[in-house]
Amino acid sequence: MPAISDPAVLDALRRYWGYDALRPMQAEAIDAELEGRDSLVVLPTGGGKSLCYQIPPAVAERTDIVVSPLISLMKDQVDGLRACGYPATALHSGVPFAEQREIERDLRDGAYQLVFVSPERLLTNAFMLLLRDLNLGAFAIDEAHCISQWGHDFRPEYRQLRVLRQRFPDAAIHAYTATATERVRNDILLQLGLHDPAVLVGDFDRPNLVYRVVPRVDLAGHVIEILRRHPREAAIVYCISRRDTETLANTLTANGIVAAAYHAGLAPAPRQKVQDDFAAELVDVVVATVAFGMGIDRSNVRCVIHAAMPKSVEHFQQETGRAGRDGLEAECVLLYSPADAMRWESLVQRSAAESDDPAAAAAPQLELLAQMRHLASTVGCRHRMIVEHFGQSYAKDNCGACDVCLGEAEGLIDVTVEAQKILSCVYRLEQRFGVTHVVAVLAGADTDAVRRWNHDALSTHGIMADTPRKEITRLVHELVGQGMLDRTPGDMPVLVLNERSVEVLKGDRTIQVQRRPTRRGRTKATIETEGWTGVDRGLFDRLRDLRTRLARERNVPPYVIFNDVTLRGLAALRPTTFETMIRVKGIGRKKLDDFGETFIDAISSYCSEHGVAVDIEG
Ligand code: ADP
Ligand code: ZN
Repeated sequence: MPAISDPAVLDALRRYWGYDALRPMQAEAIDAELEGRDSLVVLPTGGGKSLCYQIPPAVAERTDIVVSPLISLMKDQVDGLRACGYPATALHSGVPFAEQREIERDLRDGAYQLVFVSPERLLTNAFMLLLRDLNLGAFAIDEAHCISQWGHDFRPEYRQLRVLRQRFPDAAIHAYTATATERVRNDILLQLGLHDPAVLVGDFDRPNLVYRVVPRVDLAGHVIEILRRHPREAAIVYCISRRDTETLANTLTANGIVAAAYHAGLAPAPRQKVQDDFAAELVDVVVATVAFGMGIDRSNVRCVIHAAMPKSVEHFQQETGRAGRDGLEAECVLLYSPADAMRWESLVQRSAAESDDPAAAAAPQLELLAQMRHLASTVGCRHRMIVEHFGQSYAKDNCGACDVCLGEAEGLIDVTVEAQKILSCVYRLEQRFGVTHVVAVLAGADTDAVRRWNHDALSTHGIMADTPRKEITRLVHELVGQGMLDRTPGDMPVLVLNERSVEVLKGDRTIQVQRRPTRRGRTKATIETEGWTGVDRGLFDRLRDLRTRLARERNVPPYVIFNDVTLRGLAALRPTTFETMIRVKGIGRKKLDDFGETFIDAISSYCSEHGVAVDIEG
């Protein structure tokens, strides 16, 4: 049996993928696979899980089965592997019957190293019979958290995978997931009946992601400003509700940023179209609910914006995790308002109200919410807070890749005086009005309601006339979020004082909020510039267009041709011969044969047009 030290491992890595070295956790995972030992591999998104199950069957010359939850994921993986010359196939309902027959025949001849299947397909009698005829090595269960009810993507079909252990006692089982919680991990081990597994948990930090938390004052304004930093780059904007996604997508489009909305309420066809257009790089910006998730395989997402706070750190990590899967820099911005926590709270309460014990049903979700709120409202290193949330320790003092460590978050400011003005206004209004009216009175507005109630005669009318209304609204939400003011439940919430409000009014309590960042406040993180070192941007753009054209001709997503790392490598080293080209990361034998000449032509003509040096030593 081959081992990790076997030169065949490195040889396969170079030949198929054009990579020089394995990442630390990959080596251990491949070792377990080659030894035939069960394993559970937990690596964050972009950590390189796929190579762990792709290399062993190629080296051991056997056929392994990969169980995958979505047809789109299988298709992308098979396209990607075929482009590298790696013998892989998939059997699912989208494959025409005649072709399935052909694939089965070739499988029996040992023509494929990997077969991707859905759990439903795997457990059919026909497939079980087919498996007996193969030189079967192992089962790799991708997205293994789908087996657990405690995860966020539970799929009942995954439960049936329990039978694999009994039916194929000699085949090893390897589970892969990016989900970190202990409970899900234990559930996977138990459900799959893993025997003495190697449990390999990678580092949860994503150093290439730059996290920023920005107090939300003007949603569309913030989103437009951030997206303008990412022209022609892929971005996902997450919203809480379906309606929010459509409103924001329309606003963006009206402002010259073409954006598509995506949510579970869309009919299947338009929904699929958004996903396909995003993968094909026909659409770069998608405004979505959490429904836009697992099926996204675009590795060059350079920006993920949360238009509102997600309901847990787990969700935050999953969603921001879709950025920078290629390892290159990406920006993740959370636009935070304390109002978000209130919105989630009422959603949680409402759904818990239907259960027998509403308080008990709501408690765990409220706890998750509180953790997320803490992360969003605390001024501390974001990388550290996320990593520590998942029970790992963080070694660096300064991550150099979050708003706090970059010195953009300007800390907390004291707003006790403003808070007192707001609270006394609520008091003057006899605790009978909602946020909008309270803000109108503070701002000194002359609305119908103000006139009708004679509120322009109040001493608090206009006492915050110098503060922009959006800012007053934010402060009101802050006060509610910090528990200094209450909002009654129901459809017509009104603001009411509580004991803490009284303490603030008496001057026994001070109130602090995060300062709004100034326009000049943003600093570039090192990671945001170093990925472009030596890259000729003009050439990069030209090669990207070439990639899009080739992808369209072949009907595959562009990254299947070359990912952005490779494209930047080409635009930096600018090879004009096969010998220099093979040195670029991500170019194996097959891709060199298939695309080498076309890219060399494009590079040569660009470089002579622009007088740029070629064949840089790198
Ligand atoms: P995951 O499935 O864990 O999200 P992937 O398997 O998609 O991650 O890998 C993420 C990216 O990293 C891919 O572009 C992949 O080609 C690249 N990659 C994986 N392993 C290596 C390696 N050893 N060296 C260089 N790049 C790698
Ligand atoms: Zn930091």
